[in-house]
Amino acid sequence: MATNRTFTMIKPDAVRNGHIGAILDKICAAGFKIVAMKYTKLSAEKAGEFYAVHKERPFYGELVEFMSSGPIVAAVLEKDNAVADFRKLIGATNPAEAAEGTIRALYATSIGENAVHGADSDENAAIEGSFHFAGTEMFA
Ligand code: GDP
Repeated sequence: MATNRTFTMIKPDAVRNGHIGAILDKICAAGFKIVAMKYTKLSAEKAGEFYAVHKERPFYGELVEFMSSGPIVAAVLEKDNAVADFRKLIGATNPAEAAEGTIRALYATSIGENAVHGADSDENAAIEGSFHFAGTEMFA
């Protein structure tokens, strides 16, 4: 059964390029409610753990280095059909293929430095939310 929560990170490139406000604005305008949010930085170890599923991919090292290269904004978001609707809002992994008006089309610079993360399933949204937040840091 689809739950109504997803997990996102505004990645280090978008933070460095000054897009936090614009991205949060698009997220809120699309009807997502903020359940949890923090400005934080992943260590290389934590980034490696978060992306462990990609360990065998050729870009894993680059991904871990990038995701630990600067601060991020992590958040749990709520909306009906949250996971699928959020993936639609952010667009394809590669910004060159992302639909017009999507967050990645607007703010990402490359397939690696692509501005935002969005959980790809309800199960992963719950796992990723718990990775960053304690239950006491979430407010329904
Ligand atoms: P997502 O679900 O759209 O984020 O895409 P994936 O799960 O396939 O990949 C996870 C993340 O790895 C992406 O968001 C990118 O930051 C990064 N990534 C994916 N493909 C590549 C690639 O070919 N090169 C590099 N450097 N990073 C990539």
